[in-house]
Amino acid sequence: MTPQVEPVSDDKTHGQPFVDRFGRVHTSLRVSVTDKCNLRCQYCMPDTPITFHPTAELLTFEEISQVVRLLVPRGIRKIRVTGGEPLLRRQLDRLIAMVSSIDGVDDLAITTNGILLEEQVEKLVAAGLRRINVSLDTLQSSTFKVLARRDGLERVMAGIAAATRYQELSVKLNTLILRDINLAEVLELARFAADLKIPLRFIEFMPLDAERAWSEQRMVSGTELRERLESEFGTLLQVDTTDSSQPSADYVTGDGQLFGFISTVTEPFCGGCDRLRLTADGKLRNCLFSQQEWDLREPLRAAARTDENLHSLFDACLSAKYFAHGSPQSHLQPPQRAMYQIGG
Ligand code: SAM
Ligand code: SF4
Repeated sequence: MTPQVEPVSDDKTHGQPFVDRFGRVHTSLRVSVTDKCNLRCQYCMPDTPITFHPTAELLTFEEISQVVRLLVPRGIRKIRVTGGEPLLRRQLDRLIAMVSSIDGVDDLAITTNGILLEEQVEKLVAAGLRRINVSLDTLQSSTFKVLARRDGLERVMAGIAAATRYQELSVKLNTLILRDINLAEVLELARFAADLKIPLRFIEFMPLDAERAWSEQRMVSGTELRERLESEFGTLLQVDTTDSSQPSADYVTGDGQLFGFISTVTEPFCGGCDRLRLTADGKLRNCLFSQQEWDLREPLRAAARTDENLHSLFDACLSAKYFAHGSPQSHLQPPQRAMYQIGG
C-alpha cells in the first residue's frame, strides 16, 4: 500500500518515542540495502530468473542516513543492515561510516552470507562496524550447493576466518536447519562455533520463502535442536535477559559456549518486538509478516520534502502495527514479498 502523504502539520509531537498501541517501545530498525543476492537459498529466494530493483529505485545512502537521523530522536538506537546480500551493495562501507557517525546510534550490525566478507571486512571495520552475523548452514560443500543452489562455502569460511581476526568486531553465526537437508550437521556446526568461541544462533524456518515451500515438517523447532545439542554439550543453561525485545533465547554450555534459538514459529516473541524495517526500495514495515508498507522514497525525493511528512509516515506505520505476525489474526500468513525482498 502507498498511503497518501499527510499534509504538513503544526503538530510538533514528533519528538515522542515510538510506543505502539500495545505499549512496545521501538528501538531497532532493520535496513535492507539491496534485494540482490549471490546465493539462492531454498528457504529465501526462488531459483528462477528474478527482476531486481534497478539502482534508481533503491534508497541512496544519503536517504537511508536521513531516515536514521530522523528516527534516532524518536528512540531508534539499533540499526542492522541486511538484504538480499548487503555486501553486494557497492561501497557499503560508506553507509557504515555514515550511520556509525550519527549521534545516538548505539549499535550497528550487518547480517551477511559471508561470500564477500574476506575482501570487505577490513574496510567495514575501518568504517566503524563492530558487530556482524554470518549465516552458515552447513560445513559440507555439497550440502551448500543444494541449500544455497550456488557454490561458495570456501569463501564463506574464508570470510568468517577473516572477520574473527578483528578483536573489535563481534562475530556471530546464524544457522537455519531444514529437516531434509542439514539436520544431521547440527552438532558439527555447534562444534565449529565452539572451537572458534563464537555464538551460534539457530533460526526457525519461517513461511517467508519465495517459493512458498514452507512446511511444518521441514522446519526444525528450537526445542528439538536444543535437545540435540544437550546430547553432546550436556545441560544448557538459559541466560537471563532483561531485554524482552531480544528475539533469541540464549543458552550456555558448562564451558561458556553460547547457543541461541530464534523460535519465531514455535515460540513467537512478538510481545517484546521493538523493530521496524526499511526495505531496499524505501518501504517502511512494522513486521516481517506485515501485509502493509509505507513508502518513504517518494516523500524523501519530493521537492517539497519536510521532516514532518516523514514523521507522519513513521507514526502511521507504528500505529497500524498488530500484536503479532502482521495481522489481526496473529497466525503466520506469508506476506506478499519474500524474505530477500523485505530484509531478514
Ligand atoms: N544474505 C544475508 C544472509 O543470508 O545472512 C542477509 C539477508 S538474509 C534474508 C538474513 C537472514 O534471514 C539469514 O540468516 C537467513 O538464514 C534468514 N532467513 C532467510 N529466509 C528465511 C526464512 N524463510 N525463515 C527464517 N529465516 C530466514
Ligand atoms: Fe541470499 Fe541471504 Fe536469502 Fe540466502 S538467506 S538467498 S544468502 S538473502
